[in-house]
Amino acid sequence: MKPCPSCGVQIEVNEGYPFWCEHCNWNLAVPSKERQGTAWERLERKMRDTYGQALFKQLQDSPVLATKQGMSERVASAYSLVVIGCSVAGFLFSLFGLVTWYHSPFILISCLLILLLAWLSRPRPHLFPKKAILLNADEHPTTMKIFETVAEKMGVEKGIQFALSPYYEAYTSEYGWRRGRIVVIGYPLLFACTPGELTALLAHELAHCRNNDIRRSALVSHAQRILLNWCHFLDPIRDEDDEYHFSFIATFSRWIMRLLFWFPYRLLAVLIHLYWNQSQRAEYEADRMAAQLAGSRNLISLLQITHMNDVVEPLIARHSLQKQNMTLGQHLHETFSKLPEKEKMRILRILERSQQSMDTTHPATHMRIAMLLLKDAPPAYQISDGEYNKVCQEMTDHVQEKMEHRIIDDYRAKLA
Ligand SMILES: [Zn+2]
Ligand SMILES: [Zn+2]
Repeated sequence: MKPCPSCGVQIEVNEGYPFWCEHCNWNLAVPSKERQGTAWERLERKMRDTYGQALFKQLQDSPVLATKQGMSERVASAYSLVVIGCSVAGFLFSLFGLVTWYHSPFILISCLLILLLAWLSRPRPHLFPKKAILLNADEHPTTMKIFETVAEKMGVEKGIQFALSPYYEAYTSEYGWRRGRIVVIGYPLLFACTPGELTALLAHELAHCRNNDIRRSALVSHAQRILLNWCHFLDPIRDEDDEYHFSFIATFSRWIMRLLFWFPYRLLAVLIHLYWNQSQRAEYEADRMAAQLAGSRNLISLLQITHMNDVVEPLIARHSLQKQNMTLGQHLHETFSKLPEKEKMRILRILERSQQSMDTTHPATHMRIAMLLLKDAPPAYQISDGEYNKVCQEMTDHVQEKMEHRIIDDYRAKLA
């Protein structure tokens, strides 16, 4: 215990963790709001900051709304079809234009530009997640059995694949033309979790599979890509950081770009308005389903640890500098099992003040936690300690070396 320099109350000191005061929030370093990202991410963040609270209140009063497929979802699909249709029409028209008006350089350049963007926006399958390793029943029999049990309990029919990624993350996606569904779990997150938190993590991701959240958004995400390509191409924000040299041409072209950018950006904003509510509700619904299986407490503490990148990164840094006497996985497991309660409180306070979310597609984490606190659900099923240890053992036996190399390489690349 040490006195707080600001209010003087005795506060707990935890070796290796930030020293802060829970009484007056002294030294509670709240990160400033992010401004970077694609046009879509910036818009989503704007929506979250403006409408997040309203949606929360709406769902708080009538939780059934979370599952209702609203009118806006249908309109979003129709709107996306129009955007895709225009892109195809633009492509055909440019082909026609190239042949008919090849004498005029201005039309020629415009046609080539439209062709290029149409090509960049063509429908493509998602690739298999970068640097991820697919889990299989030969090398990881127990893990697969446990994961499949959770899937069964969540009411997901067979055909879900599981993969490990080197990042501190978890998400559901699909890949390839056959659109195989895949749940990706970050290797560092897997080791940071308790058995209960891991159950909650799997349950949340599998709830997305069960509700078909990825497939439902296929049309929207294609339209999104088309508009994003246009935005990215015309985005004036990108060169705002550059040193500004005044010249008439530069100012003029910047001004034209801004004008051109406005158009796809507005179209994108409309799409987000239509789609945003639906995608946020899908998250609350996945949380509700996950809490029913794994218990609200486990899910809440999972949400807290997903924001503890600042505990994970220094550990990775240590492993990248020098060989340690345990593996990174073991190190993470040990650190997180001894995590001081005060640290979780710190994360929660930061979340409340910064409106952070896991990524821009998820509601602000403190609202997800508040929603879960409304109705305390006891765990109905939980991966046992023994099972969890077997999962970790299988990871250590088969993927540890490969994965930890990738994590460290990635960390070094980021420093360079
Ligand atoms: Zn204080
Ligand atoms: Zn989710």
